[in-house]
Amino acid sequence: MLRPTLISTLALGLALAGCSKNEAPSAGEPAKNAVTSTEAAATASETAAVQPAAMSVREVGTPDQSILDLYLQLHQAPELSFKEAKTSSILASELESLGFEVTTGVGQDWVVDKATRDIGEVKPGVGGYGVVGVFKNGNGPTVLIRTDMDALPVPEQTGVPYASTVEAQTWTGVDSKVMHACGHDVHMTAWLGTARALVAQKSKWKGTLVMIAQPAEEIGLGAEAMLADGLFERFPKPDYNLALHVSADAPSGTVVYSSGYAMANVDSVDIHVKGIGGHGAYPHTTRDPILIGSHIVTALQSLVSRNVNPLDSAVVTVGSFKAGAKHNIIPDEATLLLTVRSYDDDTRQMLLDGIERIAKAEAAAFDAPEPEITIETDYTPSTYNDPDTTGRAMKAVSKKLGSEYVSQVKPVMGGEDFSQYSRTADKIPSVLFWVGAVEPSKYAKAKADGMPLPSLHSSLFAPDYARTIQTGTDAMTAAALELFKD
Ligand SMILES: [Zn+2]
Ligand SMILES: [Zn+2]
Repeated sequence: MLRPTLISTLALGLALAGCSKNEAPSAGEPAKNAVTSTEAAATASETAAVQPAAMSVREVGTPDQSILDLYLQLHQAPELSFKEAKTSSILASELESLGFEVTTGVGQDWVVDKATRDIGEVKPGVGGYGVVGVFKNGNGPTVLIRTDMDALPVPEQTGVPYASTVEAQTWTGVDSKVMHACGHDVHMTAWLGTARALVAQKSKWKGTLVMIAQPAEEIGLGAEAMLADGLFERFPKPDYNLALHVSADAPSGTVVYSSGYAMANVDSVDIHVKGIGGHGAYPHTTRDPILIGSHIVTALQSLVSRNVNPLDSAVVTVGSFKAGAKHNIIPDEATLLLTVRSYDDDTRQMLLDGIERIAKAEAAAFDAPEPEITIETDYTPSTYNDPDTTGRAMKAVSKKLGSEYVSQVKPVMGGEDFSQYSRTADKIPSVLFWVGAVEPSKYAKAKADGMPLPSLHSSLFAPDYARTIQTGTDAMTAAALELFKD
């Protein structure tokens, strides 16, 4: 795969969607100088990338009342990952009424196995709620359009009259208030709007439309569940995969995208540092795991600064360092929890190998027992937007929305399991783009005041939903119509 240059001379931040594994979105920047891998990718609207903040407010039509009603319904009845029973059945019946051949429960066996393996039981309501709708419309390409469905264990504090008050249990059994804090309710309604628009315009395209509603994006497992249940074997195999995500730092009415790598590999690593505990007054009789852990934290910084090519990108963050209970006791062990981000697979492997090497070497340097290092196997792979397909799709979106409302931005370090659909042996060209979700006057004021906007996963995130849904619908419909031209 081609590797984009991730350096830009511009510094205007655009926090973009990134959501697997409950993470906050990362900051991105307009990619005026990013290398576009093909001429096609450069055609869309590179020139508009300079100043999304200065964009004028785009006129956007109002979605159908039934779409707005559905948004409010979904927003007030959010369901957590692997518990999307009602949401998926609403979407399935909407597709059926449009004439799609619909299959539900895609991923069920995988989820049951996973729950049994990970927590020893399948809690009430937990299942694989993937929906696949197939609409055959003559000979032509097969285009898959994905929405995610799950909400987050976040208590809504937006103050909107339609705020969620739902309380529920996660699939692992933790009680929480629940909110669509990542905009997946916007995704579902824009997805349905797209299905309706494409069916209404079926005389304008030929091919097979596969609409999928994916569970459990927030925990990075839903795509894997659907693929394991034969998504590309039991149903028509796509020539292209498309998805969108809201952006909490771009104005509604706009679309932003990256070509090439768009989002990161996301790995979680646990390091259990083993020492020999004892009295704080007699350190010479111990092997202090806090000191060893501190050396590990410091040495890990050299991976990004000294092992990663300066023109490439990576992150190694120690998000948790826990040890000890009392002033005068040197504990037996310390635990470090890391998030590790990268784009290409070689860099990913280098980081994971390096973490293991450094942790073991530091422990050895202090004559302490070897640390236990666990790399979570369910990692989220990086999202790669195929440059040719991205160029074609975004050119069509620019034509539909106006090129000044569509800009190319730098990739972000958030993760998305949409990447899984392009990582099978078929290497299906895929594109995920971002739809601005901030009410334009709020956006302008925040930029003028230098104030941060509520990010995705924030209890305060309240998208400008009508304009965002309509823009997402228009953009996705335009992208799909373009790809059906093959
Ligand atoms: Zn999210
Ligand atoms: Zn999300």
